[in-house]
Amino acid sequence: MGEGALHPFAAIPPGERVLLLPHCLRPSQTCPGRPSREGFQCPVGCEEACPIRTLREEAVRLRYKGVCIAPGGALALRFVREVEPRAVIAVACAKELQEGEEAVAGLGPSRPLITVVPLSRDGCVDTEVNLDQALALLRVGTDVG
Ligand code: SF4
Repeated sequence: MGEGALHPFAAIPPGERVLLLPHCLRPSQTCPGRPSREGFQCPVGCEEACPIRTLREEAVRLRYKGVCIAPGGALALRFVREVEPRAVIAVACAKELQEGEEAVAGLGPSRPLITVVPLSRDGCVDTEVNLDQALALLRVGTDVG
């Protein structure tokens, strides 16, 4: 990604970044995962064609500090508070984005740098994201960025 060197995330190592994903990205008819208090849980070995799986596996491979698949902003904010990353990459719809930005602004001077990949198809179920765009952002500043 040519613009990677200029992105502010490039200066923050993956081990200080987290990835937030909305659970509406999952394939609602076939997903075997389950919600939990810590966020949506994907069973080990799930092989569905699913953007959550693709993005989560890449974040793990890049050694991100954490990944949270959240049903909404409250759980995502709690995760950010607990993990204390320096940077957050969030896939979100416009509504969640606005609420999330307001909530994170409330974290004060220690708030992380946030960048958002907007959903390319909204609607609260079976939503979509531009995977190439999201993967490129995840990789900014890494060996494959
Ligand atoms: S990877 Fe996708 S399809 Fe599989 S459990 Fe997780 S959200 Fe569901």
